[in-house]
Amino acid sequence: MTAHRSRLRSSRYNFCVPFGEGDSVLYNAGSGASIRLAGSDVGEITELLCGPPREVATRIIPRPLLASLRRGGFLIEQAFDEVAAIRERYWVARGRTPMVLTLTTTQDCNLGCYYCYEERSRATLTAANVPAILDWTRERLAASGKDSLHVDWYGGEPLLNIAFIEVASAALQSLCNELNVSYSASVISNGTCWPDDVAGFIRRHRIRQAQISFDGLKANHDKRRRYRRGRAPEPSASSFEQAVALVDKLLDVVRVDLRFNADRGNADDLEPLVAFCLQRGWFDRPFACVFQLARISDYSERSGFMSQAKLSEDEFERLRERARHLVPNESNLDETTTRSLYPLPRTSVCAALADDSIVVGADGHRYRCGLQVGEKNRPIAMVGAGGQMSPGPDAPWWDTFDPTRQPNCSRCSFLPVCWGGCPKKHLEGDTASLHEQSLYWRKALPQKIAWQFGVAMNENTFAFSESDQFR
Ligand code: SF4
Ligand code: SF4
Repeated sequence: MTAHRSRLRSSRYNFCVPFGEGDSVLYNAGSGASIRLAGSDVGEITELLCGPPREVATRIIPRPLLASLRRGGFLIEQAFDEVAAIRERYWVARGRTPMVLTLTTTQDCNLGCYYCYEERSRATLTAANVPAILDWTRERLAASGKDSLHVDWYGGEPLLNIAFIEVASAALQSLCNELNVSYSASVISNGTCWPDDVAGFIRRHRIRQAQISFDGLKANHDKRRRYRRGRAPEPSASSFEQAVALVDKLLDVVRVDLRFNADRGNADDLEPLVAFCLQRGWFDRPFACVFQLARISDYSERSGFMSQAKLSEDEFERLRERARHLVPNESNLDETTTRSLYPLPRTSVCAALADDSIVVGADGHRYRCGLQVGEKNRPIAMVGAGGQMSPGPDAPWWDTFDPTRQPNCSRCSFLPVCWGGCPKKHLEGDTASLHEQSLYWRKALPQKIAWQFGVAMNENTFAFSESDQFR
């Protein structure tokens, strides 16, 4: 028994969050377990467990604690390959992640936001594209055995092509009925060109989430989200007022994700915008209003010009902290801003990595990630004459991408909760963004852990270091 116990070693995914003298939480990113420790020997135990993986002399650990440490994966068998276990979980998740069909109804938009990365083109999906979309969906549902389909209406501004939404939505819902598969939808919109019967549209298309983007209060929003020449419904039209009127209606029937796109020029609008939401009663309506803070960024290889206006990771983290104080309930904050979501190890991947998800561009090509739509060299399947699909050059990269085999991620202790962040950044070799992902976890992870124990922590109280991340 003694010999067996001495062959244990510490997990590379152990972290210690200190709350004060003799009071700490041990957390394991591989299992999601956490244990609060108190007493004079806490420092000795956490130092033993949270450095580089090493053999641990278990006789110095009290038996009940030793059992908890083993159950929580803080102590593991010498021969156990932790990275291989994460890898296995990742590949299972690629197959199990729910099926999402993102349909780019059009590349066109009636607004010309200065930071928009989308290439404007006349391409739109039409009724003629529906049979191929149905064939693909039927085939993937049969091959995967999945029992649900989620459709995301995407653009450009998706509502500029309502004719396609009507026909494709009816056809996909009917396919799901026939196959006894559950159906749901969401939409990402600028909120300016919805039909008058908002509730009917939401119900008919079984939309359960609508994301409406704001660039601040009226002055900033209207300046940044200008109508393109000849596209305003009337000369004095305000894109802000249109979006506000829409959110008022939507919140009677559907969850709204109110996305505030922030950069250095409009970050000061955070406070008045949240005050505006409160005054409008948006956080208190029949359906949830979730405040989503987004950093205007160089989303694609085409928007490198954004690097000047973009908030740094530190500036953005300070903005997040302000949002946490301003928005009345944690439940009204999106998952990257809230601290209240416990950091469990990941069990699903983004839609771009999911085996059974796809993005159909307005050009009919198929992409992995919505942010790539329209990028000439990025489709994973290209539609040719006669509607035949041929593979795009990146298809094998997406099929084989594995964060557990990336040079940095494979040795990173955030790997089980991060899984390499955004795969598109890996594809583009965007090392600056990947570094920011590391900074995010160093600050956010201790706060999320502490929150569960009723301890409020911010980046100035405590953050993990580079040596905590790479051991
Ligand atoms: S934090 Fe950075 S290095 Fe670690 S898994 Fe995420 S992307 Fe990879
Ligand atoms: S995480 Fe990255 S690759 Fe995945 S859907 Fe989002 S932007 Fe695209």
